[in-house]
Formats: sequence, structure tokens, C-alpha cells
Amino acid sequence: MPVAKFEIVRKCKVCGELFKAKTIESWYCSPRCSKIAWKRRKDEERKMQRLDEVVKKIPESRDYITVPEAYALFGISKETLYRLIRKGCISSVNAGQRQIRVSKDELMKLYPLRKKALTKSKPVAKLYSLEPKDCYTIGEIAKKYHLDDSTVYLHIRKYSIPTRQIGNFVYAPKKEIDNLYKEAKK
Ligand SMILES: [Zn+2]
Repeated sequence: MPVAKFEIVRKCKVCGELFKAKTIESWYCSPRCSKIAWKRRKDEERKMQRLDEVVKKIPESRDYITVPEAYALFGISKETLYRLIRKGCISSVNAGQRQIRVSKDELMKLYPLRKKALTKSKPVAKLYSLEPKDCYTIGEIAKKYHLDDSTVYLHIRKYSIPTRQIGNFVYAPKKEIDNLYKEAKK
């Protein structure tokens, strides 16, 4: 008797060729494409690590940041930054040739932080809920603890507090935030 089995035909995520997936977890047509995908993931991880290093070195007290620093924090390209400057959307200073610096605080109001700059890549046991009902928005945190939004973002990054973005709002778990500022008050 023929064994009933269904076939999953997928497009290889690397080369785009159609292939029969052996399991629902198969995304690549061949060991070669799997290897390429693995290498790309590694390269991406390394790139993120480099960006995290840049982020760590930005002094919190300094508002005007360089173009590479803005990229590391927000993932904004040089082209986008220059366009924002030209349009007058953000303040900039020119500290010499190719030494343009832009206001970090103003960028914070326009862009969410690069995801990896907010949360460490290592998976953490989920002890918090990211449902909006269990979260504060950044604005609510700022109001409750008498801070400005950019300070809240900095703390979230510094203490690796998980966040979730829905529409224009960034949410952080109430429990994590309350713990953080309870500690800070002591
Ligand atoms: Zn392939």
C-alpha cells in the first residue's frame, strides 16, 4: 500500500530554487546553501557585535554623536541622516571635514533604537509579559518617574530591559521598569 505523505515544496532562502523540504524546518535546498546561510548569520552576528561595541563607547552625557554612532544606535544610514539634516529635522554641528555630529536626543524622538542595541542577543527566560496591559509606554515611564524620554531609552538599553514596539509606541514591562527605578531610588 502506498504510504500517504505530503510534500512541502519551498523556495530555497539562499538560491531561490524550488526544492522538496524534508522537514518543516528545512529552508535550504542543499548543504551548500545551508552553509552559506549559516555564514551569513555569523557575519550578521559579528556585525551586530561590532555595533554594540560602538554603542557601549558612546558617553551617555554627550548629546552630539557621529554618523557611525548614529548607525550603531538606530541603524540609520548616512544617507538618511544627511537627508534629515538637510530637511532641518534634526540639529547637527560640523566639527570639521566629515565630522558632522547630530543630536542623539532628537534622533531618539524620531527613531526606535536598533533592536539589538536594546536587548542582548542571548535568549533570556521569559519572566515578563510584553502584553500592552502589563507594560508602560516610554511616555508613561517618563511621566511616572519624572524623566525625559531619551533618558528612559538609555536606561532601557543599559539595563537590557525587553521592549516591544506597536505602531508608534514602544512598550516595556511594568515589572521590569518598576524594579529598575525602585533600585535606583535606594
Ligand atoms: Zn539553494
